[in-house]
Amino acid sequence: MDLDKDVKYVKGVGPNRVQLLNKLGIFTLKDLITYYPRTYEDRSKPKNIAECINGEEVLIEVIACGRLSDVHLNGKTMQKLLVRDETGSATIIWFNQSYLKNKFEIGHKYKFYGKINNQFGKITMISPVFDENGKNFNTGKIIPIYPLTYQLSQNVLRKIIEAGLKEVDGNLEETLPEYIIKENNLSNINQATKLIHFPNEFEDFKIARKRLVFEELLSTQLALLALKNSYQNDENGIAFSKEVKMSDVINQLPFKLTKAQLKVLEEIDTNMEAPTAMNRLLQGDVGSGKTVVAMCAAYKAVKCGYQATIMAPTAILATQHLENFQRMLKNLNINCELLISGFSKKKKEALLERLANGEIDILIGTHAIIEENVQFKNLGLVVTDEQHRFGVKQRTKISQKGENPDVLVMTATPIPRTLAIILYGDLDISIIDELPPNRKKIETFAVGKSMTERVNNFIEKQIKEGRQAYIVCPLVEENEELDLKSVEKLYEMYQKEIFPQYRVEYIHGKMKPKEKDEIMERFKNGNIDILISTTVIEVGVDVPNSNIMVIENAERFGLAQLHQLRGRVGRGDYQSYCILKYEGKGENVRERMKVMCNTNDGFVISEKDLELRGSGDFFGTMQHGLPEFKIANLFEDMPILKIVQNVAGRILQDDPKLEKQENKLLGKLIQDKFMKRLEI
Ligand code: ADP
Ligand code: MG
Repeated sequence: MDLDKDVKYVKGVGPNRVQLLNKLGIFTLKDLITYYPRTYEDRSKPKNIAECINGEEVLIEVIACGRLSDVHLNGKTMQKLLVRDETGSATIIWFNQSYLKNKFEIGHKYKFYGKINNQFGKITMISPVFDENGKNFNTGKIIPIYPLTYQLSQNVLRKIIEAGLKEVDGNLEETLPEYIIKENNLSNINQATKLIHFPNEFEDFKIARKRLVFEELLSTQLALLALKNSYQNDENGIAFSKEVKMSDVINQLPFKLTKAQLKVLEEIDTNMEAPTAMNRLLQGDVGSGKTVVAMCAAYKAVKCGYQATIMAPTAILATQHLENFQRMLKNLNINCELLISGFSKKKKEALLERLANGEIDILIGTHAIIEENVQFKNLGLVVTDEQHRFGVKQRTKISQKGENPDVLVMTATPIPRTLAIILYGDLDISIIDELPPNRKKIETFAVGKSMTERVNNFIEKQIKEGRQAYIVCPLVEENEELDLKSVEKLYEMYQKEIFPQYRVEYIHGKMKPKEKDEIMERFKNGNIDILISTTVIEVGVDVPNSNIMVIENAERFGLAQLHQLRGRVGRGDYQSYCILKYEGKGENVRERMKVMCNTNDGFVISEKDLELRGSGDFFGTMQHGLPEFKIANLFEDMPILKIVQNVAGRILQDDPKLEKQENKLLGKLIQDKFMKRLEI
């Protein structure tokens, strides 16, 4: 049996179907049998007609008690069949299925599976699937439902997969070592593959799924950890001098670092002094003080004779970092400069020259830093801020501007450690799990439309007291043109109708960086009272005097994003407020709003986000370069993930290169699955 053989040789697959299967990503026999169901329908246990609930999908086992009637209506036809069991009767209805005419015989038994419609006791079922009594093709068992079928019907795809499984017929080679199967009580590969498609009971499917999820997570985790090990054994990194003390800069700061900041700095320091290249993720909630951590690391790199670079996702943020760095490093004889797009040619050339000959110690900027002509004299440390905006590729690209520089990736999306290990599996992780002291909780309210006037009065009250407000525009489908329109519309409304007496301005992503900076600068200096904005202000910008944020159509934002946005206020001494204006009454909407009102803890929020949105959406917006999972779901399968991480850690500790006889299969598994894709 050849798993790589073309799916066109599987029974029941003609040229037409090959094309459709290919569209589903199924090219080989292996692809076919690993095309897992999305869900199942339990068509195994019949229900009495009298017990059927309106809207539920059920199996009924009934006797045909009349002939199939075939009614013609405006060129269409409708077929009706009256059926009954001991508890009641029902009418089965089809449209345009005249061929069914002679299918049913009075007094014979049939099984129908479909959706029940119960109107005032009149029960109907429209277009059900059915079997004659005694036959079990469409009913009488648990039926897999596949995620996508294009023009293939579920039935056809199911038949093809059944045929594929028959060819395999229990002859799949085991992919997991015997000891792992035994220790973790997993089913074998043949059993699991068969039962994931055709379980006899729900219990079967759970057992099968566990085995397949386990394998998928284990191979991913092993591949990522192996990748990390390979960095760590590679002693080609920079060993920054132990003589340069971070404490020299820490003592100069205008505030005392939190315990959490000191702890992560120690981790970073140790890592920098080691001869291997650092690849570290720094996680911390909004406002936890990541920037200053990056600055201390940069200080160390510079005083050891290297250059450092900080890459931020927006020009505004880069500018703000620059100001902070300059302020805090001013007595330490370190030269920080800014590089963003839109500089004049002359200005840029001069800057690049200073960079190349080492006059610039720390270069702070945006994506512009990645450009080819940006060359450092000796880059020793790369920091990327708000990692979810940068892909792994960009990270690599910028690292290549130095010789194995240390890399620190900062993210404000707090995710549980277990998930971080698999999402950023190739990185070490440091977490700042504490906010600087005296931070006030941002009071958050979720309100409907009817509260608009009260909200506006509240904004006015704050402005009268000298504060400033952000008003965040609804997201429009990641479409900048439309986002622009909605920000302009909102601006008109606030400036002309609601607050003509105040200084209202707006800012959006399509403006030139310079324009944006000017507006932010004026807002910072208190020359704007109300700033209408798209999510360009989402990351990092600090305006301590603004203490109120109104988010329009808050229901359109994910929780993690709302949390990020909200983090823009509450940065000064004033009590701050976040008002979520939302529409729609869905359970999910209300629950999301409630989470925001109840907690300021980013970890709690991101876990909730994950739960409510499902891991697909959640990671879709933030993951880069991680292989997609065929069957595992990082949220639901967290318990398995935890076990797997344990197992993977132990295996690699004992056998880092997976060379032992009992681990050969694992080596092969990760080789096959990941090495090519991760390009290692
Ligand atoms: P984030 O982690 O969201 O990037 P920042 O680095 O922007 O947070 O820090 C938020 C604010 O807190 C900044 O104004 C910063 O100067 C201040 N800050 C950082 N660490 C401390 C500390 N230990 N004590 C007081 N303020 C701090
Ligand atoms: Mg930040």
